[in-house]
Amino acid sequence: MKRNYKFETLQVRAGQEIDPVSKGTAVPIYQSTAYVFDDMQYGADLFSLKKAGNIYTRITNTTNEVFEKRMAALENGVAATATASGQSAVLLSLLNVAKKGDNIVSSPFLYGGTFTMFAITLRDMGIEVRFAKSDRPEDLEPLIDGSTKAIFIENLANPAFSIPDFEPIADLARKKGICLLVDNTFGMAGYLCRPIEYGANISIHSATKWICGHGTALGGVIVDGGNFKWDIGKYPLLAGPSESYHGAVYTEIFGNAAFAARARIDGLRNLGPAPSPFNSFLMLQGLETLSLRADRCCGNALEIAEFLERHPKVESVNYPGLPKNPYHGLGKKYLRHGFGGVMTFKVKGGFKEAADFVSRLELILHVGSVGDTKSLIVHPASTTHSQLSPKEQIAAGVYPNTLRLSAGIENVDDLICDLESALG
Ligand code: PLP
Repeated sequence: MKRNYKFETLQVRAGQEIDPVSKGTAVPIYQSTAYVFDDMQYGADLFSLKKAGNIYTRITNTTNEVFEKRMAALENGVAATATASGQSAVLLSLLNVAKKGDNIVSSPFLYGGTFTMFAITLRDMGIEVRFAKSDRPEDLEPLIDGSTKAIFIENLANPAFSIPDFEPIADLARKKGICLLVDNTFGMAGYLCRPIEYGANISIHSATKWICGHGTALGGVIVDGGNFKWDIGKYPLLAGPSESYHGAVYTEIFGNAAFAARARIDGLRNLGPAPSPFNSFLMLQGLETLSLRADRCCGNALEIAEFLERHPKVESVNYPGLPKNPYHGLGKKYLRHGFGGVMTFKVKGGFKEAADFVSRLELILHVGSVGDTKSLIVHPASTTHSQLSPKEQIAAGVYPNTLRLSAGIENVDDLICDLESALG
């Protein structure tokens, strides 16, 4: 696209060229596994990375590519790689920089599935993830040593909604010569926050949430900021010869888009978590209305948080949009258009009171997800964070009476009425 379009325009147009055969306005679903080679040389050139083009959908697919280009545009990156889930986007990102014997320094404020991947799966693969006390630079810095390959943080970290102070964390990463990876799922495809603009190098999303937006498809995406120099001796996986691709050096072939390229060529190709073209079509459908849904979700969330804060049966509300919230200031610094669609709150009492409240709700669905058009509630201690020990749960901001609510786009009066009657 020639001009510098704004987010709302990019969300419906970026990455798409009108299909010259059908002239359809919608992005076609290229539901094809493999692609014809024009001639012998063309096939050989594709395989030796001399030419770009489709070989096999585990690596590239034209529908997936439109989604990838649109996400790169929305997040202000240079390239993106779509994956089958948010979880695989996080995994491929880490495997792009770290191997056995390396370590990653991470914020402790993480989605439960990410925490488990870091603490168990990566540990078993020989990659140590060092959890800091918080996502503040002074807590991250002492854990960084010569084998540290990245700092990993989560924006509006699920479920405590901590907003990292991106700029000083990016300064720390720069000072140490390591990259900064951000899970920006709750930043709503860049509509609320674009971490790359604040110095992050990679922005990772579970596209399953607000990007898809309708609870119909799993997906993930890795956006490459193109703003890190990988050939500094510390990142042989990106700037050294690739053992799994006949010695190809990704930084030489793909320049500043080497991270996204390796996530595809070594990540998707060797490990397999590629998105289905149909799911990418659903992600594109979702993106077209993202800003409209995001405005409504954030508006509903703020009204609900204010209602809950006033209610005598609610012990506390954690939503960065509330002025007394500890992250309100950082929210004002780094977020646009609102403070997110999700909050946690504690009902007065303990586990039983929280469970009873959930079972009295009629409209708000009891679901372990976020970012849907429908409002969803979950009890993290017994579900999303149940694999964590009680100590780890508290460190992640999860108490027995904590509930997480993801505001949908319903009429907010109906949502408040549902909450009011369930609180009793
Ligand atoms: N990152 C965050 C912040 C999430 O909330 C989730 C899922 O809830 C994931 C990653 C994993 O995404 P997915 O469920 O698409 O694998």
